[in-house]
Amino acid sequence: MENLNVGIVGGSIAGCATAISLSKQGHTVKLYERSMGRLEDRGAGIGLPIPTLENLQSRGLLGADFPYLTISNRYYKVPSREFMGKTIWTQALGALALTNWGALYRDLRSRVDDDSYHTGLPVIKITQDKIGAYLHFENGTAEKFDLVVCADGVDSIGRSLVSSGSCINYAGYIAWRGFIPETEMPNLEGPLQSNVNELVGQHALMSDKGHGIVYLIPGFNGETKQGERLINWLWYENVAKENLDEALAGRTHGNSSVQPGYVPKYRTDYLQNESSRLFPAYFSDIVHKTEKPFIQSIFDMHSNVYASGKLCILGDAATTVRPNSASGVVHAMTNAVKLADYLSSSISMAEGLSSWNMDQVEYGYGLVELSRKVGKALQDPTTSWKSMDSNSMEIWWDSVMGDQNWYVTDSKNRN
Ligand SMILES: Cc1cc2nc3c(=O)[nH]c(=O)nc-3n(C[C@H](O)[C@H](O)[C@H](O)COP(=O)(O)OP(=O)(O)OC[C@H]3O[C@@H](n4cnc5c(N)ncnc54)[C@H](O)[C@@H]3O)c2cc1C
Repeated sequence: MENLNVGIVGGSIAGCATAISLSKQGHTVKLYERSMGRLEDRGAGIGLPIPTLENLQSRGLLGADFPYLTISNRYYKVPSREFMGKTIWTQALGALALTNWGALYRDLRSRVDDDSYHTGLPVIKITQDKIGAYLHFENGTAEKFDLVVCADGVDSIGRSLVSSGSCINYAGYIAWRGFIPETEMPNLEGPLQSNVNELVGQHALMSDKGHGIVYLIPGFNGETKQGERLINWLWYENVAKENLDEALAGRTHGNSSVQPGYVPKYRTDYLQNESSRLFPAYFSDIVHKTEKPFIQSIFDMHSNVYASGKLCILGDAATTVRPNSASGVVHAMTNAVKLADYLSSSISMAEGLSSWNMDQVEYGYGLVELSRKVGKALQDPTTSWKSMDSNSMEIWWDSVMGDQNWYVTDSKNRN
């Protein structure tokens, strides 16, 4: 197939992964990101299966020295008199890499040529005709491409042009998130410090208002040594849809998240009180110590078409997966590398896009279903977590998963 001139909307994980993958196949890419500067301060901890990570490294999307911590267990805990709570089940994971969003973005971004990456340039409209696809910019200019890839996240402006059947459904819970440096840990000389290595593993803290998660991730500059890492936490709080507006107090208009520094004081007080009430003391200490917690509401969104004419959508723009299955980044990067693969093995762009579309729509749908299943079970307010032990937890997990595989717990990887 001839080399294409490709315009990419969005310069985050999916956009950078697409730019790198397509450039490696000889296509010319131009990437447009509406934000000015680098995006490094977004998000916090990210989990990636090690086989996926190694595959991305071998394909040149991530460097050999990409920083991450490896874990192989998830400890399910309930509060008890013990500072670290009571572990009711140790679940073996296929090796999982834990990293931070900034490190992932930086590594990907460093592989995209600066001349191809345009910042502060919002795309306001996308059109296509028989000759090409066109990006229209806020400054009144437009540019023509052979192919436009929309990697512009959950509020994608390209999605409705490609897939009219996508709908976004609120999952019934929000994610409170935050992190603290290890050096700022509460009780530095006390129980948490002496138990820090227990955090090398993922902790799931079970409650009837939704579960908490805590794990270590590399520091802001990729540091992986003890004392230089970050402690990353989340609390997935069940919030009825009618109370969502109140739960997202402090958000900017129309946004589904509340940025660090914008959560009102009465809401952080509520978070701290609830963390003391629901969770083991160490988790509550970490939450109390977090200066600027932030909130993301959780959605399911799946598109039934990823490519139409000279346009395609990928990453969160195409399908937004609940974070409970650690799949969002894997989905975004898989979409990107598969797009390059299908284009290079096809005789025309139309044929490549058509095959990629069929494969990735099915893949995205499977991930949404998996995440929904896992998320629903972990958030179930009727499960009596305090009465569970490892036997009943194993029975519970088998009943949740049925015959389905999940690469996090069985280390299978579709890439
Ligand atoms: C609480 C939570 C925890 C998560 N944990 C994990 C995890 O452990 N593992 C995992 O794999 N995933 C996780 N995810 C999901 C993961 O963060 C996302 O799936 C991933 O970042 C999606 O990347 P993206 O590039 O598709 O979209 P985004 O990161 O949203 O990027 C879209 C980009 O497009 C730009 N843009 C938008 N519109 C325009 C426009 N009109 N013009 C120009 N630019 C535009 C935006 O500024 C942005 O930079 C989590 C998500 C949440 C909410």
